[in-house]
Amino acid sequence: MPNTRQPSELQGLTRVGPKVENALNRLGLYSCRDLLFHLPARYEDRTTRVEVAHLKPGIPQLLEGEITSQSVIPGRRMQAILTFEDISGAARIRLFHFSRAYLMTLKSAQSVRIFGEPRFNQGVTEFIHPEIAVFKGDPPPLDDTLTPIYPTTDGLSQPKLRDIIRQALAKGPDYYALEELLGTTQTSHRPALWDALVALHQPAKGLPPSPFIERLAFEELLAHRLLLLTRRDDYVRFQAPQLKTKAMATRTALLEQLPFHLTLAQQRVLNEIDQDLTHGHPMLRLLQGDVGSGKTLVAALVALPLIEAGFQAALMAPTELLSEQHAVQFSEWFRPLGIAVGWLTGSMKAQPRRIMLEQLKNGTCQMVIGTHALFQDEIVFKHLGLAIIDEQHRFGVAQRLLLREKGQSLTPHQLIMTATPIPRTLAMTHFADLDVSTIDELPPGRTPVETRVLSQARASEISERLDAQFDDGGQAYWVCTLIEETEQSVAEAAESRTEKLRLQLPHRRIGLVHGRMKADEKSQVMAAFADGNLDLLVATTVIEVGVNVPNANIMVIENPERLGLAQLHQLRGRVGRGARVSFCILLAGDAISQQSRERLNLVKDTNDGFVLAEADLRLRGPGDVTGTRQTGELSFRVANLADHADLLDEIAELAETIRRKHPDIRQQLIARWIGHEEHFAHV
Ligand code: ADP
Ligand code: MG
Repeated sequence: MPNTRQPSELQGLTRVGPKVENALNRLGLYSCRDLLFHLPARYEDRTTRVEVAHLKPGIPQLLEGEITSQSVIPGRRMQAILTFEDISGAARIRLFHFSRAYLMTLKSAQSVRIFGEPRFNQGVTEFIHPEIAVFKGDPPPLDDTLTPIYPTTDGLSQPKLRDIIRQALAKGPDYYALEELLGTTQTSHRPALWDALVALHQPAKGLPPSPFIERLAFEELLAHRLLLLTRRDDYVRFQAPQLKTKAMATRTALLEQLPFHLTLAQQRVLNEIDQDLTHGHPMLRLLQGDVGSGKTLVAALVALPLIEAGFQAALMAPTELLSEQHAVQFSEWFRPLGIAVGWLTGSMKAQPRRIMLEQLKNGTCQMVIGTHALFQDEIVFKHLGLAIIDEQHRFGVAQRLLLREKGQSLTPHQLIMTATPIPRTLAMTHFADLDVSTIDELPPGRTPVETRVLSQARASEISERLDAQFDDGGQAYWVCTLIEETEQSVAEAAESRTEKLRLQLPHRRIGLVHGRMKADEKSQVMAAFADGNLDLLVATTVIEVGVNVPNANIMVIENPERLGLAQLHQLRGRVGRGARVSFCILLAGDAISQQSRERLNLVKDTNDGFVLAEADLRLRGPGDVTGTRQTGELSFRVANLADHADLLDEIAELAETIRRKHPDIRQQLIARWIGHEEHFAHV
């Protein structure tokens, strides 16, 4: 894309020098054309003048009038207090950053225009640091378009960026000759690209009409999908270990050793995966299935023939706790088959760690289980053939690609497992680089968990209920949540809850795990619970994923309103794993909103993880469902899944055509919407 790489083009704009250009580059903007596709995050309305007497709370508004008095209040933090008046009344303006010269300018002004959000404080209307524009005579006419607010960066103010983009737009459509990249079937019934861009940058009064937004969202979603497909293509064109149907002795042996049969769903996904493995190209597959559906066993059965054929397999779990459980489980399954199972975590001592690394390097460790430590740079495998990633949401697209380097001459297959069902809209956007297999059936004999929502005030009654269950030989989890606070204070909440419960249930054995404990302390407590030597385990959400103690039949969650629905469902999945009737008690805070109450009732009313994930997506947006909110991975400028889901089928079809037949268009769309690929690769 050499034509979009002309740094001097930006400096050709008025008031753009090297420093500003640098800031623009940091935003991924290298040309005027890039500026056109840098779209507003929101708008402010400066098209109408509001009088002091008619201000509304909560939104910034524009006023015109005069500054009629000024005073400076000395002190550690100097303040200027100004009086602003228009024909309807007066308001106070407070400034904390100002110079004498600035105050003089305000004094000599004949009129001012201010823009800011009013506060109403004991009968006084007040503005803290509004934008103030000063005029010698009458103010110029008001804007007739909404004011766009752009994503920006340090050293590039909103008005400056706005001015720069306005200049880029002023060059007009002929300057850009924006090619239609979509083909006439998609564009004939939609507005032209240029018109849509103008409508978004400079919307006439009122928000831009949806056909314009949709026109751009279509292209943007298409570009994102193409990027994921491109990355997938880049990964799968390499050679990977090829499954030989002869290498099935260990799999057969494990299946014979199990006290149960695979469910039909497990059998089906195993076949799907086996198909992938015969091609000689790397698999990139997402395995989704509700908590307890038996994904781990499927992963083990996939690993066996590859190990039998001489390759290594690695399983990465999101927490140390879970990695240990997996390590125990895999040892139980694999050691009788003569397969060496290793465990690698971040908190390991130097000596055992060195030995482990050596065994990975020389290939004597055939199956390794660990946390993120597993795929660090310094870890070298002899023949990594399969990487299994449990609970994918903390593992991003970029990391998936890096795994290629772990495979030496052959690229490893990837199996990514999740118990958080991916709604279709997300699967088609954020996970478009993966094939999907779904286990849609639980093993027989599970009893559905009965869920209740109780108020916090009834916490003491619950201890009686627990006591009765313990008499019957049951066990319980008690989860403390405090996501707004630090890990430290969650730990403290869990400690104080433990103390209270010990007072209420003095004759019971109560343990505690939280994220601030040392790894071996945690695993001691977990082991005691798993062996039935504890009745009750108080915990933070460290036990959220994967922990498997079939005898546990009660889950109490404090302040469940603070968690996402999918997360609550995960926690609830820790019980209902054995034959005992199981309960999940959501101890809601006293002052929760109506909406929170409805969310909790939804958890009460359905045991279907898919329904809950869809609801999460609707209520909290995709970041929470995918866990990518912090990284901002794949966030859209225009599109949003709630409004544009119905475009996705058309987009998928078109993306396929472009991918196969028009690599040039693919590159252009990606550059237009996401940035230059060489630039993007470093994100
Ligand atoms: P998840 O899908 O949540 O990771 P697990 O793999 O932890 O589920 O499986 C939960 C439990 O169910 C484990 O104890 C596992 O051994 C058992 N399990 C797996 N498959 C079956 C099956 N087909 N029949 C009975 N139990 C099974
Ligand atoms: Mg699991």
